[in-house]
Amino acid sequence: MSIGLFGGTFDPVHNGHLKIASEMLRLLNLSELRFIPCALPSHRSLPLVSACDRAAMLDLAIETEPRFVCDRREIDRIGPSFTIDTLAEIREELGPSCPLIFLMGSDAIHSIDSWKQWKLLLNYTHLFIVNRPGVSVEFPKHIWEWIKMYQVSNLSCLDLTSNGHIFITSANALEISATEVRKLLCRRLPNVSRLLPHSVFDFVRQNDLYLEQRNNQNIKSSF
Ligand code: ATP
Repeated sequence: MSIGLFGGTFDPVHNGHLKIASEMLRLLNLSELRFIPCALPSHRSLPLVSACDRAAMLDLAIETEPRFVCDRREIDRIGPSFTIDTLAEIREELGPSCPLIFLMGSDAIHSIDSWKQWKLLLNYTHLFIVNRPGVSVEFPKHIWEWIKMYQVSNLSCLDLTSNGHIFITSANALEISATEVRKLLCRRLPNVSRLLPHSVFDFVRQNDLYLEQRNNQNIKSSF
């Protein structure tokens, strides 16, 4: 059976994440889907809340689905969170034949060329890309050419080999972003609660998270 991997900042985890993760479970024969919160993202702005709180919110969000697991390796590792390092570690642990399928939204693909050794990702995993509402499906030319070399249209290809394929789907994603959720939480707007699991919303309130609108969008990590 295959293992799904879902890396992200999860600042905080929201229903958009959970929706595509559930879709992946529905479409693929996965024994588990590991959510992997990053510690220090290498290619985007720094998270607003601590890795520890983001992982705690993930634990709450996934507690009702036994195949969802929170994998804390990037938080426990010292230094920046490079996906390629995480994939190499997991591949080493699971051996060469286990299909690994890395889930990502189409917005992340637009800038995948800023990820460390991005072209080597497929040496370790398949990519399962979900078109995100409101995000252009026209990828930069060099990224599109790379995708076309590895893209498959049959989902079963992802089960039959351990790595190396890209599958793109427009399966039922929700138009929710953590950026929007943070803004609504900061303004204490009540309608934000429908964008998050109740348990995560309660955790945010109990711990006074996201109350300041520290605009860290321009503070990039230096890795
Ligand atoms: P932010 O708004 O802070 O950039 P985000 O909502 O994009 O956050 P991340 O934790 O950065 O959430 O995303 C982790 C992964 O989940 C990325 O691959 C991203 O594309 C994907 N993702 C997040 N939200 C959605 C969504 N609503 N639909 C599809 N994919 C999503």
